Amino acid sequence: MSKKGITKDIIAQLCAIVGKQNVLTSPEDLVCYSYDAGTVSHLPEVVVIPGTVEEISQVMELANHNRLPVVPRGGGTNICGASIPLSGGMVMVMQRLNRIMEIDADNMVAVVQPAVNTASFHATVEELGLFYPPDPQSAHMSTIGGNVAQNAGGPRGLKFGVTRDYVLGLQAVLADGRILRVGGKTIKNVTGYDLIRLFTGSEGTLGIITEVTLRLIPLPETNRTMLAIFDDLLDGAAAVAAVIKAKIIPTAMELMDQETMKLVETTKPCGLPVDAQAVILIQVDGRDNEVTEQAERIKKLCLACGAREVKLARTEKESAELWAGRRAAFICMAMKSPTPIVEDATVPRSMLPHMVNKIKQIASKYDLFIPIMGHAGDGNLHPIICTDERNQAEMARVHQAIDEIFRETISIGGTLSGEHGIGLAKRKYIETEFGEVGVSVMRQIKQALDPNHILNPGKVFVMEKAK
Ligand SMILES: Cc1cc2nc3c(=O)[nH]c(=O)nc-3n(C[C@H](O)[C@H](O)[C@H](O)COP(=O)(O)OP(=O)(O)OC[C@H]3O[C@@H](n4cnc5c(N)ncnc54)[C@H](O)[C@@H]3O)c2cc1C
Repeated sequence: MSKKGITKDIIAQLCAIVGKQNVLTSPEDLVCYSYDAGTVSHLPEVVVIPGTVEEISQVMELANHNRLPVVPRGGGTNICGASIPLSGGMVMVMQRLNRIMEIDADNMVAVVQPAVNTASFHATVEELGLFYPPDPQSAHMSTIGGNVAQNAGGPRGLKFGVTRDYVLGLQAVLADGRILRVGGKTIKNVTGYDLIRLFTGSEGTLGIITEVTLRLIPLPETNRTMLAIFDDLLDGAAAVAAVIKAKIIPTAMELMDQETMKLVETTKPCGLPVDAQAVILIQVDGRDNEVTEQAERIKKLCLACGAREVKLARTEKESAELWAGRRAAFICMAMKSPTPIVEDATVPRSMLPHMVNKIKQIASKYDLFIPIMGHAGDGNLHPIICTDERNQAEMARVHQAIDEIFRETISIGGTLSGEHGIGLAKRKYIETEFGEVGVSVMRQIKQALDPNHILNPGKVFVMEKAK
C-alpha cells in the first residue's frame, strides 16, 4: 500500500483537477486496472484519467507531496508486470490523450499523444505513403506511449530497429509535476545528454510521457512473404544465421517450432505444417526487382540448410494467411495454458542455433513444456513456459529453468530482454547483466529525478540494495 494511503481529501483534490467522472474508486473499477497481459496482479487504490498535460502536472505535484505511488498505464498489454500497481496508490490511465496531433509529411515526422493506438497509427501514416516500422504483435491494443515506455520492438525490428530508433522528441511530466520537453522535428540532434533515450524504455519510472515526436520513413514499394519448412528445428535456426551471414537483412524472420504450430492448429487452424519440426516465416521488402532477387537468394539458403520446402506467397491474401498463425501464436498458448510465461532471451544472431538447443535441453531437464517462437532474425527468442501457477512443484522447476535460460543468455553475450522490458518479472536478474556499478548508476538517476520514489516504484530494479 502507499505510505500514507489515499485519504478522502486527496480524492477530493484529484476530482477537482481531472473531474469527478475521471476518478475511479469502486472495487469493480479498480480491478480492471490491477493486471497486465502477464501473470501478476495487484489492486490500485484509485484510478485517475487525466485529459491534459496540465492536469497530469497538477496530479503529479499532489502525488509527490503526499508520497503517493503513480503507475502510468497505456493499453496494459505488457507481459512483465510493468504496469502492475504493486505498491497500491494510483494508476494513471492515459486513454484520453489519444490524438495524432500532426503528421508533417514534408519532414516525415508525426507528433502524437501517448494513448494513440499503435495499429491505427500504422494505418494512418501508410495511407500517406509513410511508414512507422515498430510493430509489436499487440499493436491493435497497445499505445504509442506504452511502446515508447517499453521501447517495444516486433518482427520488423530485424531490418528497421525498435521504437527508440524512431523517437525524435518527447514531452514528459516529471515526478514533481515539472514539464520536460526534449528533442523535436530535426533528424539530427546531438545537443546535451540524450534524455530522449533515457526516457525511452524507462517503463514509467522516470516520468509520464505526454507527447512523442516520431520519425517516419517512406513506405516500402512492395513486400514478399515466404514460409520455409524444416524437419529439424536446429536446421531452421541455422538457416536464420545463414541468411544474416550472407548479408541479407529481411524485414522479418520469425521462428515457430512444432509445439507452437500444434497449439496454433488446435486453437486457430491456419494450415501450418504440424508434421514439420519448425517453420521460419520470412518477409522481405523494397523495390519489386530487389524483393524478387532477395526472396530467391533466401529460398536457396534455406534449402541448402535443409528446408524441405519454401512456400512463396503470391498474393496479399496468401501472405496474410501465412502471417495469421504467427500473429495468433501467443493468444493460442494463453488459451491452452493457465499460466503462460513468455521469456524474451536475446542472443547474438550467430548463437541462435546454440540457444534454441539449450532451451530444448532445459525444457527436458526440468520436465517442462516450452514451445519456442520468436523474432529469430534478430536473435530474439520467445520461449513460452506453459505452466499452471497452482502447481507449486512445477513452479519450482519453472523458476529453476528461467534462471538457467538467463544465465546461459548472459554468458553467451545476450541480454535479458530484446523488447518486452524488465518490469517485475526480470528485475532480480538485472544486476547479472548491468553489474553492481550499472545498477547503482540507474539508482542514482532514479533518485535524482524521483527522490520520493513515487513513479512506478519497484519496477526494473529495487531502489534499496539487497543486504
Ligand atoms: C499478444 C502480445 C504480443 C506482444 N508482442 C510484442 C512484440 O512483438 N514486441 C514487443 O516489444 N512487445 C510485445 N508485447 C508486449 C507489449 O505489448 C508492449 O510492451 C507494449 O509496448 C506495451 O504497450 P501498452 O500501451 O500496452 O503499455 P502498458 O502495458 O500499459 O505499459 C507498459 C509500461 O509503460 C508504462 N507507460 C505506459 N504509458 C506510459 C506513458 N504515457 N508514460 C510513461 N510510462 C508509460 C507503464 O507504466 C508500464 O511500465 C506483446 C504483448 C502481447 C500481449
